[in-house]
Amino acid sequence: MSNPMPSPKPLDPAVIDAIRKAIDPQRLAETALALIAVPSPTRSAGAVADRLAEILAADGFAVERPIADWPEAPAVVVRLESGNPGRTLQFDGHLDTVHLPFVTARQENGYLYGSGASDMKGGIAAFVEAVRALRETGSLQNGAVLLTAHDHHEGPWGDRRQVQALIREGYVGDGVLLPEYLADPLPVAARGMAIFEVRIRREGEPVHEVLRAEGLPDVLGAGVLLARRLQELHAALGQKTHPIAGQDSVFVGQFQCGEIFNQAAVLCTIKGTRRWVTPNAAAEVQAEFAALLAQVAAETGTSIEFDFEVQGEAYAVDAADPLLAAFQSAHAAVTGAPLPLGRKPFVDDGNTFAALAGITPLSHGPAATGAHTLYEQVALADLVRVAEVYALTALAYCGGA
Ligand SMILES: [Zn+2]
Repeated sequence: MSNPMPSPKPLDPAVIDAIRKAIDPQRLAETALALIAVPSPTRSAGAVADRLAEILAADGFAVERPIADWPEAPAVVVRLESGNPGRTLQFDGHLDTVHLPFVTARQENGYLYGSGASDMKGGIAAFVEAVRALRETGSLQNGAVLLTAHDHHEGPWGDRRQVQALIREGYVGDGVLLPEYLADPLPVAARGMAIFEVRIRREGEPVHEVLRAEGLPDVLGAGVLLARRLQELHAALGQKTHPIAGQDSVFVGQFQCGEIFNQAAVLCTIKGTRRWVTPNAAAEVQAEFAALLAQVAAETGTSIEFDFEVQGEAYAVDAADPLLAAFQSAHAAVTGAPLPLGRKPFVDDGNTFAALAGITPLSHGPAATGAHTLYEQVALADLVRVAEVYALTALAYCGGA
């Protein structure tokens, strides 16, 4: 993915200084705690979206609330326009949290705690503070910043319909930053991933092994054959590699068949994952998988059906992408060095932006811990760092003073 516009501008030391002075740790912490204080399990993020909208409106921003395919919790959108042409940088975050018992918000010894502190209300508060600092300093001279926040992220409760709808409805920048709990390395490649469930069946009822009809299809044997073919496929897929993302894989994690030891079963179920490095290859990968299943069904006289749920598409960021250069100059300005490049270990909304919007995503947020547990915690100083990096990336990418 590359952008035809010119290379990012170098950051002016006076502007770097102004942004860092404008970012207010106390205000950032108050925003984070106000968001954490509102429970928002996935599909029920309406109240926290309302809270974020109130905070932004009180700051004087014009807040849009597109329903974006989820009337329970309309999304929150704010734009900071320079009034001049240039790139638009999007800051996108999810307001929903995993379905665990609610942990109340608190601040202690420089850390913020509570549901969503790490994933990702702390990160959202950081990018809100970045937009405030950009506005207060008047430093954004070109392009715009687009802030979007939504529900329906965390699986298996959410299906990402709201971020997909936002993209379809045009709430999209030229590049996007996502403050997931990944501070190092900077992920510039990600594998696609699908979860599969295969169901191998035969006709008829379960039957005692000694009463089986001659030639009765053997679903367990078909399952074993399929598992072995998937292992062979995995070995062959080692050829499909990307220098950063890694390699293609197929993995079987569950195999279930039979009720008791001497009964011929009617159903064998196999579950696992398929991961791939080639961008936009989900359909091709699924077709290859379907062909393998059809072959096994034909050889064994069974019928095989399957689900293939794509969790995220693969992508790779071009080394010459201006968002990458802008981010690294911002990171160096804040911390003294650019980030090492690496792969993204998880699937996030960045995969969706790459596949559906065709824009470059960079997932970068606080070095927060405890995501998807009851023990989320994030250092306020690290959220301040994220706010500085986001604001300065916007200036380098869109064009600043
Ligand atoms: Zn997250």
